[in-house]
Amino acid sequence: MSSLPTSSPQPTALDVLSQVFGYQQFRGPQQAIVDHVVNGGDALVLMPTGGGKSLCYQIPAIVRQNAGHGVTIVISPLIALMHDQVGALTEAGVSAAFLNSTQTYEESSALEKQLLRNELTLLYAAPERINTPRMKGLLASLHERGLLSLFAIDEAHCVSQWGHDFRPEYRSLSLLHETFPDVPRMALTATADHLTRQDMIERLKLEEARQFVSSFDRPNIRYTIVEKTDPTRQLLRFIQTEHDGEAGIVYCQSRKRVEEIAGMLEDAGIKAMAYHAGLDAKLRQQRQDRFLREDGMVMVATIAFGMGIDKPDVRFVAHLDMPKNIEGYYQETGRAGRDGQSADAWMVYGLQDVVNQRRMIDTSDAASEEFKQVMRGKLDALLSLAEDTRCRRASLLGYFGETLHASERSAGPPQASSVPSGGSALHEVKSVGAFCGNCDNCLNPPAVWDATDAARKMLSCIYRVQQASGISFGAGHLMDILRGKTTEKITQYGHESLSTFGIGADLAEAQWRSVLRQLIASNMVRVNAEAFNTLQLMPDARRVLKGEASVLLRQQALATKAAKPKRGSKTSVKGLVEATLNAGALERLAHLKAWRGEVAREHNLPAFVIFHDATLRAIAEQAPQSLQDLEGISGMGTKKLQAYGAEVLRVCAVAG
Ligand code: ADP
Ligand code: ZN
Repeated sequence: MSSLPTSSPQPTALDVLSQVFGYQQFRGPQQAIVDHVVNGGDALVLMPTGGGKSLCYQIPAIVRQNAGHGVTIVISPLIALMHDQVGALTEAGVSAAFLNSTQTYEESSALEKQLLRNELTLLYAAPERINTPRMKGLLASLHERGLLSLFAIDEAHCVSQWGHDFRPEYRSLSLLHETFPDVPRMALTATADHLTRQDMIERLKLEEARQFVSSFDRPNIRYTIVEKTDPTRQLLRFIQTEHDGEAGIVYCQSRKRVEEIAGMLEDAGIKAMAYHAGLDAKLRQQRQDRFLREDGMVMVATIAFGMGIDKPDVRFVAHLDMPKNIEGYYQETGRAGRDGQSADAWMVYGLQDVVNQRRMIDTSDAASEEFKQVMRGKLDALLSLAEDTRCRRASLLGYFGETLHASERSAGPPQASSVPSGGSALHEVKSVGAFCGNCDNCLNPPAVWDATDAARKMLSCIYRVQQASGISFGAGHLMDILRGKTTEKITQYGHESLSTFGIGADLAEAQWRSVLRQLIASNMVRVNAEAFNTLQLMPDARRVLKGEASVLLRQQALATKAAKPKRGSKTSVKGLVEATLNAGALERLAHLKAWRGEVAREHNLPAFVIFHDATLRAIAEQAPQSLQDLEGISGMGTKKLQAYGAEVLRVCAVAG
């Protein structure tokens, strides 16, 4: 019944890591987490996407099963992905299964019998399932027999309304603790913000659990945020020059936009598909499968896509519209580069994004004023990030309460985080030394201009117009006044006689937009969604009007013209890989990939579940002659060596 292909009766966690998964070392805090949970402790695990959360519960599950504790129940929100998760474990020789609504009564019954015979190491189930009488009965029977080893709650932030994926079904998971207080529980998430974390602990009753907080840095991801000028063309150029033929995700806000962009990419000869909640479930499933299984697909999607997608070789995540907050941005961009190879997080954003997001918060009727206030604060923090002239990584990590140390990048666990301040976009002139070397601001430091004077002009203009006319106006009209344009509307309201008419003729419209974005981002100006998106002064504006704060802006409009992309010369990931392999190894790699594709199709699994690219590359480089040569290659566990070793040798021999 042991799922571990080993002769040793009591394998240690490290044995399991190397024999089952084929990895030689734990990553970061994995070992500490695994040890704690193996010994029956409760745990809250906060680790970025790609950090290696799965092993944190899979290894304890195997060790505890071998020690006679029975099955680990994994609660995972997406039934669509359970098949592949279980497939990956089965490939590694671990007995795992899932229970979900796609199964027949007979299938579920057969599984239940297997469970009661203690034949399974891991069982995946959706949260709504846990609450059914049948499941409750099953859990109680297992518990009676001493066969309920551990509960692992994946994507645990779904329990909180402050998170970005709130799922009401998660609320019922508190019953696990109430009903089975002696069964250890662990909750895992890649969301790090303080509010969500507190809420999660309370809702899931994890007050006593030990917390494991990893560094949230993803050093292999390059962050770039550029001004939105012609988003469609910008995206096309980005993909063609930097990620030709590679897998990526493009996020847009609306379904319509998703369809348009997918169509545009296809017309340009890029393999692309659309994905959003408006498509029927079957089609969505098909497209998700294709994305996982085929090489080099681009998925254009709303945020409905991505949670739980553990495709390791997504080379870029592009945002054509701004997400709601930094948590969302970080989670979405985190889907790039899980395999640790270099990847891009690229976003275009503009004034319209700011206006749209504000409006969505202001006009949402379901939420309380307190809720809206929190959402506004979170949006402000993201706007500050977008406008920031300093290292993006330092800002991102700062938001999660972490400090980026220029010299020691992946320094241990972060300090206890405090509630993020939302970070004002206005800073006193001070130099911040953080430098990651892998974000747009570090690679191409933006020119900065002192826009304090311009900001003051803008603020007084808003004030004067409101005073003179008794009503507020929108951004376009205000910029026309500042720039001294005589439009019909200006004449109609007599605004050419205002003292602020024409005082900003020296700046281009793009610069005014940038000023305005900053003022909105730092809450000096509010866009009133209930009154035609007109602009209103907020109390904070006084700081600039009185000369107490200065405004520094990135020279975006100029930078785009002057600094032509040095990035085109950036060696692509593909180029790098090919450069390090000799001709023979390249030949072997090509054969191995073709072979892997066949196996994956036969098993109806994504190729990376059979072997990761990195494993195939290591094999190709090694030019193995015997099974011994394959031992110790990262990703080559005992079961895979048995199942595929001989085949791999044959494929390599054919390739010469
Ligand atoms: P998360 O769920 O935290 O996003 P995963 O559990 O999917 O991350 O792990 C990300 C990738 O890292 C997976 O492909 C996994 O096989 C790999 N991985 C995890 N732990 C290790 C390790 N100790 N050594 C090598 N690779 C690892
Ligand atoms: Zn940086």
